[in-house]
Amino acid sequence: MPVTLDTDLARVLGAKTGKAMAESLELYRVRDLLRHYPRRYATRGEMTRLDDLQVGDRVTVLAQVRRVVSRKMRSRPGTLTEVTVGDGAGEMQLVFFNRRHGQLQQGAWGLFAGTVGQYRNSKQFAHPDFHLITGDDDEDWARALIPIYPASKDVSSWVIQKSVRLLLDASGGFGFVEDPLPEDLRTRHGLLSLPAALLDIHRPTTADDVERAGERLKWDEALILQLVLAARRRAAALEPGTARPRGSGGLLDAVDAALPFSLTEGQQAVGEELAAELSRDHPMHRLLQGEVGSGKTVVALRAMAQVVDAGGQAALLAPTEVLAAQHARSIAGMLGPLARAGELDGDPTGTKVVLLTGSLKAVARRAARAAVADGSAGIVVGTHALLQEGVDFADLGLVVVDEQHRFGVEQRDALRAKGNRPPHVLVMTATPIPRTVAMTVYGDLETSVLRQLPSGRGGVASSVVPVSDKPAWLDRAWERLREEVAAGRQAYVVCPRIGEDDTGTADTDAPEDADGAPEKGGGEDDRRPPLAVLDVAEALREGPLAGLRIDVLHGRLTPEDKEARMRAFASGQTQVLVATTVVEVGVDVPNATVMVVMDADRFGVSQLHQLRGRVARGRHRGLCLLVTEARETTATGQRLAAVAGTSDGFELARLDLETRREGDVLGAAQSGKRSTLRLLSLLEDEELIATARAEATELLATGGGLADHPGLAAEVAALAADERATYLEKA
Ligand code: ADP
Ligand code: MG
Repeated sequence: MPVTLDTDLARVLGAKTGKAMAESLELYRVRDLLRHYPRRYATRGEMTRLDDLQVGDRVTVLAQVRRVVSRKMRSRPGTLTEVTVGDGAGEMQLVFFNRRHGQLQQGAWGLFAGTVGQYRNSKQFAHPDFHLITGDDDEDWARALIPIYPASKDVSSWVIQKSVRLLLDASGGFGFVEDPLPEDLRTRHGLLSLPAALLDIHRPTTADDVERAGERLKWDEALILQLVLAARRRAAALEPGTARPRGSGGLLDAVDAALPFSLTEGQQAVGEELAAELSRDHPMHRLLQGEVGSGKTVVALRAMAQVVDAGGQAALLAPTEVLAAQHARSIAGMLGPLARAGELDGDPTGTKVVLLTGSLKAVARRAARAAVADGSAGIVVGTHALLQEGVDFADLGLVVVDEQHRFGVEQRDALRAKGNRPPHVLVMTATPIPRTVAMTVYGDLETSVLRQLPSGRGGVASSVVPVSDKPAWLDRAWERLREEVAAGRQAYVVCPRIGEDDTGTADTDAPEDADGAPEKGGGEDDRRPPLAVLDVAEALREGPLAGLRIDVLHGRLTPEDKEARMRAFASGQTQVLVATTVVEVGVDVPNATVMVVMDADRFGVSQLHQLRGRVARGRHRGLCLLVTEARETTATGQRLAAVAGTSDGFELARLDLETRREGDVLGAAQSGKRSTLRLLSLLEDEELIATARAEATELLATGGGLADHPGLAAEVAALAADERATYLEKA
């Protein structure tokens, strides 16, 4: 039988290798091996910088044997062989106990693979795997560029290299690989054919080969991904839904009449867009991206009011209890008697606003669920508790997901599934995301953007307070905070950790109210533990902020307690709130003007931007102080300076993407052994992704769509069915 992309690897490579590849690298079929690209290419004499290897890394290095020394061990019987290998730039020890490796002769070149360990002061591999390059008899090893593959303990880089070679021999070249990309598209963009690109990426002769092959293979990734997303958008657009057209004299008019401000142009424009889409009998799927404080809530509320006016129910899903409670409170406040239909002082033409969270007592929960089920609750606000079984809607017309970055698509879909017919969906996020990430992660949604902040905002002045370089500045920071409080304002002091029993930085709350776990600084575990809410609050009470009304807020408090403390802060009773990142998302207390972030270096760029957003919400000028021990000249110091230097969320999002691994952006599945995006970089390939998106949309709209391109259709089906594509949902 001829080899095809779907042939089992075991058939080509033998059962043993096939099994090892499947088990340790998740490579099952020929297609998988061909798409398992080298991580890099080693050349003889290259500076592999052995010195840069981190203890614990699993690596493959190309090096030459320098010295071989065997000696009897003192502490136990047997011999120890130390082999020193080097590559010109550095040296490293290989250690073997009781094993002689005759082939390891001075001067021999080879690939050495193992986990980097440390002994005394030097790095070493204990019992590494190695493969010596024997020269002319092995054509593979005579190549100028030796591919180094992502490998595992059981399948080394050279086994993969040999396997690719075997595959080539068995199939007489990669001629059997059909190119899924339409010819005209390839010509338009000057791309290699797939067989040529695969040959060049696995067995390149020059660095140019690698580059051109990479260019072409990135196209596969970008186009197929965008086709999956474009197909989803098209399918969604065809789903039957229920039209919820705008009516007059109802809740929406009441909301508009009650607004204490006029809408910004952006809010109006997005409002019109939503109103029109809600009026269609196909469900809306829209992402509303808006700067922190741009006023997304009122846009959502107006959409919800329209749906209620049209006879449906609207659900608002929030990531934390604090935020859900705040939304319910402010919506009820805005609707006044219209939010209390059925109550004594309520307006019978209105509806009920119901809050449904995990902390509701059984009786209250039953009542809330009943109001959701019989339709008397037009607006339902809640946390994950909304998604549970037993929460049944009479007629769910609109799902709003606030701060989507805290949720996955499964959760969005779980709520969506509670409609009799697919409801309209509005997803909101304040985390500005670079365009390419939006196109990829949210590629199945249409996007609206609110760039403008409501006018009359005082803005925020941000500074870094580098306590190592300028210790006196911290005193000045507390003075500034006191001045603001004296002027009637309020302040947040945010710390990375709660304190008392918790250790380390793994300061996570109960899942429902997860505090954002501070970013771990790679390899900096020798730092002191991060500052804790409870300690800092204590120190402030007794020291620089003595006499002020200080309270704490963190995820270890009960939801009722949190809600009560949040309320006390919102009402001005509490002047200074020392908190974890529970206040990160969405919390809205316009009178708060100071945000002091302690150990600011422990937070990510986007997180800091979100935190700062808490004090940019009123007419008073906000002040954000990023307190850190990081030196101004370090990378961390400069990252903080960048945050202080701009309030443009989109610029910061880019910076964030640059400083984090892209895998973190795309979600956990991305960092696993396999990922759908192997070569494509969301940061560097922005143009390619945008072009591929346009091509994908065009392709689906032309002629028979995918049906005209069976090769592409197969790839798209494979990706869509592939559970590894779940990274799309996890972001
Ligand atoms: P975010 O987009 O971050 O969720 P919010 O919806 O919480 O922002 O709005 C931030 C604050 O701005 C709220 O206090 C809200 O009442 C207020 N706000 C919203 N729209 C306007 C507007 N057009 N003019 C003035 N204030 C507004
Ligand atoms: Mg919000």
